[in-house]
Amino acid sequence: MSSSLRKIASHYLLTPQGLISRPLVTVDAATRRILAIERYGDDLDLTAGVEFHAGVLSPGFVNAHTHLELSHLCGAIEPGCGFAAFGQAVGRLRDATDEAGRIDAACRADAAMWDEGVEAAADIVNDDTSFAAKERSRIRYRSFLEVFGLRRSNLTEQRARLSHPGTSLTPHSTYSVTDADFRAVCAEGDAPLSIHFMETEDERTLYFGGGALHEWYARAGFGCDFLKYGMPSERIVECVPKGRSVMLVHNCHIMPIDFDIIMTHFTAPVYWVLAPRSNRYISGTGPRTVGLLRSCGAKICIGTDSLASNTSLSIMDELKCFPDIGLEELLTWATRNGAEALGMADEIGTAEVGKRCGLVLVTGVDYSTMRLTPQAAARRII
Ligand SMILES: [Zn+2]
Repeated sequence: MSSSLRKIASHYLLTPQGLISRPLVTVDAATRRILAIERYGDDLDLTAGVEFHAGVLSPGFVNAHTHLELSHLCGAIEPGCGFAAFGQAVGRLRDATDEAGRIDAACRADAAMWDEGVEAAADIVNDDTSFAAKERSRIRYRSFLEVFGLRRSNLTEQRARLSHPGTSLTPHSTYSVTDADFRAVCAEGDAPLSIHFMETEDERTLYFGGGALHEWYARAGFGCDFLKYGMPSERIVECVPKGRSVMLVHNCHIMPIDFDIIMTHFTAPVYWVLAPRSNRYISGTGPRTVGLLRSCGAKICIGTDSLASNTSLSIMDELKCFPDIGLEELLTWATRNGAEALGMADEIGTAEVGKRCGLVLVTGVDYSTMRLTPQAAARRII
């Protein structure tokens, strides 16, 4: 019986009470459940079956936004091409690889996430590619079947995928879905929604009759029957019930008024997902609104977006985009907040006795400031 126990010591551990030093965590190796969290003294006997890992232990990560089905597009789209060109390139290239190749790429991306310590992920779905990878994975997935289309909607095709476990419908964004479909999806069920939000300033200017999206739609002959809402944030609050939990993804161009409109409406928690490396890849922009979100006490989560707009699905590499923010806060974004957003906080997201949250070893920490260095890395221990 005792042989199935692992005793793991490190320099620090992130707990719900903050970072604690000298942690000694006992885990049932078979179930991955935490049995005890103690603190060791100077007499820690490393010969007595204790593993010592130099660094900071964190509960497993939650990737709050990815598109596993686009993994085969790694390196296929030029960085810096801009938002509208990126969207068109994905549309052109996504089916250029055969199904076996797409599934293989998704499986490899899933395995890399697991190795880094990702315990759960919010995965956006447009076709059936990712389900094969997710069925075999040890990562807990919630699949968001995104509904979009200004001329021809994919709502009927997406409904057929609701037979897969852990799936629910969500509108793609405030600029790509008809009024009727957006309203229908937001009114249906009570699962969280995941909406791409203010990734580009063109999303706002569309509502005022200008910008790259407006020009693209005008050229393509797409009509927009939702401009009556006046702006993207108003569309969300007028269509999503106030008690429904929402993950808003990207938030690169939110303004204080957007935050106020959203937070005044919702009684359920709102999660603000940042995916800074994807923004840099597509548009060369940084996570410029993180200061606004932090000053308002927003619940921030971390996503990677897909390999079409990123070089890896590494949560640690996303966190390293915030070198001035303390480790405890960053790890909270990457663990507890994401677990709450996916409704999984009773099992994962925090290191507590009874949970099966996984354990990740973070190395490359500057202990004098408790910040990540450029060399920081993460790998799964449990
Ligand atoms: Zn996305």
